[in-house]
Formats: sequence, C-alpha cells, structure tokens
Amino acid sequence: MEDTTNVRATVTGIGVCSGIKAGRVYHVTAPIEEPAPGLRLSPREDYDKAAARIAQASDKVQANLEQAAQRATLESTREMLEATATMAADPTLVADAQRRVREDHLVPERAVWEAAHEVTEQFTALGGYFAERTTDIRDIRDRIIASLTGLLAPGLPASDEPYVLVAPDLAPSLAATLDENLVLAIVTDGAGPTSHTAIIANAKGIPAVVAARGATELLAPGSIALVNGSSGIVVNNPTPEELEAALKQSDVVRTFSGEGATKDGHRVQILANVGDPASAAEAAAAGAEGVGLFRTEFCFLDRETAPSVEEQVAEYAAVFAHFPGKKVVIRTLDSGADKPLPFLTFDDEENPALGVRGYRTAERSPELLDQQLQAIATAARANSSTDVWVMAPMISTVDETSAFVASCEKHSLNTAGVMIEVPSAALLSGHILATAKFASIGTNDLTQYAMAADRLMGVLANFSDPWQPAVLQLISATCQGALLHSRPVGVCGEAAANPALALVLVGLGVTSLSMSPRAIPEVATALAAVDLEKCRDLARIAVASPTAADARHAVRDALPELTALGL
Ligand code: PEP
Ligand code: MG
Repeated sequence: MEDTTNVRATVTGIGVCSGIKAGRVYHVTAPIEEPAPGLRLSPREDYDKAAARIAQASDKVQANLEQAAQRATLESTREMLEATATMAADPTLVADAQRRVREDHLVPERAVWEAAHEVTEQFTALGGYFAERTTDIRDIRDRIIASLTGLLAPGLPASDEPYVLVAPDLAPSLAATLDENLVLAIVTDGAGPTSHTAIIANAKGIPAVVAARGATELLAPGSIALVNGSSGIVVNNPTPEELEAALKQSDVVRTFSGEGATKDGHRVQILANVGDPASAAEAAAAGAEGVGLFRTEFCFLDRETAPSVEEQVAEYAAVFAHFPGKKVVIRTLDSGADKPLPFLTFDDEENPALGVRGYRTAERSPELLDQQLQAIATAARANSSTDVWVMAPMISTVDETSAFVASCEKHSLNTAGVMIEVPSAALLSGHILATAKFASIGTNDLTQYAMAADRLMGVLANFSDPWQPAVLQLISATCQGALLHSRPVGVCGEAAANPALALVLVGLGVTSLSMSPRAIPEVATALAAVDLEKCRDLARIAVASPTAADARHAVRDALPELTALGL
C-alpha cells in the first residue's frame, strides 16, 4: 500500500455529526489471528521465564482496562470496562496458560489461545450468563496476546492523546465504548447516515463522517486529518493555513435566539424535535422558536398498559410549559414496527413496517387515540398561551386524514395536521391538505417507504439517504399540494438538521424546519447566509440530479457560503 502519511489529499463522505476537528489518525486495530497450532519454545528457552511473561501481560491488560474505566465519562461504559478488567484479573486463565508453557512447552501466545479456548468451551456448555461472557474472554485473550507479541490490542487504539478514529465501520459494541474526551472525530469507509455509528456519534456529540470510501487507505495511522462533520470533507495532512482557518471556524460558538430567516428575510421557523419534558427544556435553552415534533411515545413505551389520561396530561403540560406563547406540534402515538407496544401492536405481522403502525393503530384501538386527544386538549387548556397543533403519524389516505381531523375537532383541537411519511400522502397532498391544516414531512420514514429500505438496516444505508432525488421529488410534490390551499409544510425528519439539505428543503417550499436542538444554531446560520432564490436554485439542482451522491455534491459545490462558514 502507498505510504500516504505525509500526502495532502481529501476524501469526501457524508457528514453525520457537525463540528470541525483535527488530530492524529488512529485506526481501529485488526482482530488477533490464531497463533499457529503446535508453535513450541525451543529446548534452550527458560520455560519459567516464558510463563512469567503471561502473568505480566495479564497484569498490564488489567491495568490498561482500569485506566480506561477511570477515563470513561459514561457510567455504562465505565461499568463495562471495570467488569472486563475484573475478568482479566482472574488467575484461572493465566495459570492454565502457564501450565501449557511449562508442561507442553507451547509459546506463550499459543498457550493463552488454547487456555482461553478451553474456558470458552466450558462457558458455552454452561449456557445463559456464562455463554454471554465468552465474548469477554476472547477479548481478554486477544489483549493478552497483543501484549505478548507487541501487537496493538484489537478494537479501539490504546492512545492517551486525543485522536481521529478511522475504521471500515464500527461494531455497535465498539461504538458504544467510544470516549468523547479521546475521540476527536470519526471517519468510516462504510456505514451510512442512519447507521449505529452515526446515531452514537450524534448522541456523544463527536463530529463524524461516514461512507467516506477509501478513507482507511488514504488516512494512514500517524497522519493528521482535518475532519468537517458538516460538509463530510476530510483532509489528510492539511496545510498549516488550512488548519488554522478551519480551527478558527470551529472555535466560533454559534447560538440562535431569534427568528429563522434567509439572508433576504424570507421567514422559516426553526423548531425543535423533543421527546419528553427534559428535551423540551434543552430545546427552549437552544432558542428554538417552538416544537415542530413532540414525539409522545415516551409516555407509552416500556409499559404493559396504556398510561391514564391524567398521567398523559401531566407529561404533555410539562412540555407545553417550556414554550409559552409559542407553537408546539404534538404527534399522536406512533407505535408499531420499530416502536412496538405490548398492548397495541400485533406480534404476528410479517412486515411490521408495512403493517398496523402509526395512525393505523387508531382503527384497532380508537379509544386510545380518543384518550390521547382528550389529554392533549386538557394540557393545552392548562397552558393557554401555548399554540398547540396536533398531527397524526403515517397517514396514507384522504379518508384517514378526514377521520383524524374529525377526531381532533371533537376535542376542540382545531389545528389538526398530518405527517407525510408515505409516498401516497406526498402525491395526494393537494387533497389531504384541503382538510388537514398543515403537513409535517417525516423524511426518515418517507425515505424508508420511497426507497423500500428498512431504515434500521445498516447494509441499506445508501438507500436510506434523504438526498435521494426521488425523496426530494416527493417533498416537492407535497409542497405544491400545500400551495393550493396556502398550508404550511414543515420537515421534522433528520434531513432538516443538515445545513445544506435544509436549504434545499426551503427552496422546495418547506416553511419550517424541526430538528434536534443541537443542530439549531448551524441550520439557522446556514439559512441566514443565502437568499431564497439561491435556495430555489439549490432545490432545482438537487431534484434534477440522477443520484443522491450527485445531488449532495452538486449542492455542496454550489454553496461556497457554507464552506466559508465551516459548515
Ligand atoms: C420521520 O419518520 O422522519 C419522523 C420524524 O418520525 P420518526 O423518526 O419518529 O418515525
Ligand atoms: Mg416517522
């Protein structure tokens, strides 16, 4: 492989968590290979000394794991590392491996491999809790062998210096143990915008670029990488000027406390997605103009029975209270498929994503919807200054729309709308919005259904991309239908949180953008940097592109404004 350590080059992927970071590249280390069977020490070697090396390596592994546990900021990670450290300290494995060195004269690494094999066989036979521990034993085995042979321990690099982590992809278990104080940024060849890597990077606030083909080859361990988690551009060995300029941009602390608008003053509401009273508080602190999506599932998940109306009133009122005088769009229960509920979801569906989910559950349990609307209406009355809008998830027909709007009106909830998440609803929006007062596009599901790609399947990540021109055409169709009745159309899927894509959405006619509070300052900054006409140009470019990658690249190329802002 060509040595790229000192070569300046760029690789582009999909930015999934914004932020600019530069640091030394470390790769996820490869798994340890099995030492050849029968590999023996020569008769001249000191067997006791060789056996002692195993104990030393085990002590070192334990100490490293304990240090990593102390550094971990997440409680769950610390506990996991402490448990592995305790297992590494167990003398049984070491004693057995040492015996194999002294009696069978195996080289220490082969002796450790065989001793660990015996333990894992026993644990597998015992089943249950013990069988689950075999992964840890193999992990400890590999760490001891790595220490004995001078290799890097598999998995995350053992570095005390903060670094840029580069990998083909990250296993969920590995991604979960990432320490945000050590990992400056993540770059992966594979994975996609909805992958585990992307979700965890976002949760931990680590700038990340996924689907950057060729990254592991180009970004050699030891080189310096400059990672832009918004644009998806990664520069290998940037010039000192590039570094300085980029890091200056990353020092800019963006805040938002006002009204979202393009440079020429075209208003676009910047709203937040919230899931409970705590995230509503976070959204209010981030300066959100209101809530564009209040997911109510938190009230219903992990329960055997539905919550009472009183319980619901208390939770909804607590969210509304964070937005006096502002708009809160509350979504009725969206259960089924990826959010099953024991008291509502059929458990014999062959294709749950295509089954009774979202608003469709209202047909099976109309009383549940009625109680929820009653709770929303009561909570709204208690916070009379909050402008409460209600919408139903996963509407696909005009009849569903009419039924939902009528149900809302029974409770005097007069601003009733629908989520556009199914292609049929996008194409029928002219009819749907004759009755519904507004639409909110759920781009996560709209992409899933337009592309026929399960949004949770990492291997289908290339399909699950809201830059897909077909998805953009459906958004455009929704906006055109809404125009016929002068109805507002928001976007509350992940697409709204991407600064470049947000501008495309505005150009398509979207009137509000709702996102996780963390994304608000950047999207608002991007919006303020361009005129509406520019957004419309970008929309034309994106919709006319043949592929998602073409759309993304063409739009980025037409947006030097964002590059200048480090977005
Ligand atoms: C969506 O589908 O885009 C959406 C916002 O809803 P959820 O992610 O909750 O399904
Ligand atoms: Mg959805």
